[in-house]
Amino acid sequence: MKHLNEQNRDPFPTSSVEGEEHHSARSPYTNTPHNLPSPSTGEGARKKVGIVGGGAAGFFLAINVKELVPELDVTIFERQRKVLAKVEISGGGRCNCTNTFADVTDLKQVYPRGANLLKRLFKQFSPADAFQWFETHGVPLTIQEDQCVFPEAQDSHAIIDCFLREARRHNIHIQLGTKIEEPTTLLQDFDFVAVTTGGMPTNGTHPTGLPSPSTGEGSGENVWERVCPSLFTFTIPDPTLTALQGLVVNDAIVHIPATSFRSQGPLLITHWGMSGPAILKLSSYAARHLAEQHYQSPLLVNWTGNSNMEEVRQHLLYTIKQNAHKLIDNLRLPLTHTPTPRTVPLALHGRGGRGEGLESLLLPSRLWAYLLSKAGLQGKRCSELGKKGINRLTDQLCNDTYTIAGRSPYKDEFVTCGGIPLDSVDKTTLESKTTPHLFYAGEVLDIDGVTGGFNFQAAWTTAYAVARGIAAKLEA
Ligand SMILES: Cc1cc2nc3c(=O)[nH]c(=O)nc-3n(C[C@H](O)[C@H](O)[C@H](O)COP(=O)(O)OP(=O)(O)OC[C@H]3O[C@@H](n4cnc5c(N)ncnc54)[C@H](O)[C@@H]3O)c2cc1C
Repeated sequence: MKHLNEQNRDPFPTSSVEGEEHHSARSPYTNTPHNLPSPSTGEGARKKVGIVGGGAAGFFLAINVKELVPELDVTIFERQRKVLAKVEISGGGRCNCTNTFADVTDLKQVYPRGANLLKRLFKQFSPADAFQWFETHGVPLTIQEDQCVFPEAQDSHAIIDCFLREARRHNIHIQLGTKIEEPTTLLQDFDFVAVTTGGMPTNGTHPTGLPSPSTGEGSGENVWERVCPSLFTFTIPDPTLTALQGLVVNDAIVHIPATSFRSQGPLLITHWGMSGPAILKLSSYAARHLAEQHYQSPLLVNWTGNSNMEEVRQHLLYTIKQNAHKLIDNLRLPLTHTPTPRTVPLALHGRGGRGEGLESLLLPSRLWAYLLSKAGLQGKRCSELGKKGINRLTDQLCNDTYTIAGRSPYKDEFVTCGGIPLDSVDKTTLESKTTPHLFYAGEVLDIDGVTGGFNFQAAWTTAYAVARGIAAKLEA
């Protein structure tokens, strides 16, 4: 793996490309229209591909279809005056571009929607293929301990620069500021059209003019799967909770009662409620359910990371016995005491227990005080708790109840749940079953993942499948 050099960082150092006088001083992902010639000018009978949407999937598709069939004439239409906007801000500006999937035992854990189709498409273009693709296209990558993959440069521009460099090399036309209202109309001028318009707005307006499912019009991909946000944080207007803002619990289990929606991982208390990987994952699993509930729902938090309540109770019993004369407030849980064989420290049951500092194995003391107060046990000696007190404390630790009152006020949803129904496209090429030569890739499909690089991986894989699908049609 090597670092990008300065030359690589500027994909347009010379003026050898059409229209370059319009953007020689700035990269085209800034607000500079390309003004490149129409794809129809002077290209004779070359087959044409029109791609609607200049985001991750659109670029990856354009580059790969050109690699497979170099003589194709490819145009990307982008409604904004800037391409790859989401790639730029992704991963906090570092772009978590894929994941090793080493910790993934079931794709449904990371793709609440689209797991089965992706399993199939990974045979065409897997996460390992994506890793190799970037490295062989001049973007060295690095793997974090949590298996998330980022550019070694820790900068999303490494990916953007790569895409723009490849687009230039393959003479891919980019038409900025061009909103395509109805992609099928492009089929009059283009041999193949791919829709890569990304997540859909939730206000019922489809970016490509398709009717809303609520209108009952259309069929197949004309009725997209119910659209709602995914990967959002929860508003919990409880001042005693939000007073703990900034506090992180490394391994919590969050659960929506009376449903199977549950997730586990780090939880962050914010000034508006709760965030962190456990919450984001839960919002993804329960995206449609929460939308139906208008984001009003009870939430259970198990702060111990151990789903076995009896084990937690036994552990408390043991600890309290060992510290009978102490104030319960002065204990730190899970405890630093050497556990008996039956009573392993709670956090050791969770992920990441081993190898972390001792502090990370303890419930934060501010949270402990808060939970004791909630259970009405503050200021008591351990010996005073009795069986009832221990049961109450166990319940407080494992079934702490909150009320979700909404999504985060910051509109920080990362992806859209819903989109083009997967049964309306060919499972290998993602070509529409009702409109030949019309393809879909990326988030516009009813595929979305949890955080960790899974959404970009879905974009790369679906885009590659479409590129192969177009190439196969040309060969046929
Ligand atoms: C803040 C943030 C951070 C994220 N971080 C990560 C991360 O680190 N890792 C990860 O895996 N995922 C991340 N995601 C999710 C990821 O960005 C998306 O899943 C991914 O960009 C989807 O790619 P796409 O090409 O399908 O859509 P997009 O990247 O959204 O691109 C769609 C493009 O189509 C254009 N368009 C839409 N309609 C039209 C039209 N009618 N005509 C012409 N153009 C149109 C849009 O302007 C846009 O440029 C993040 C998302 C956000 C919002």
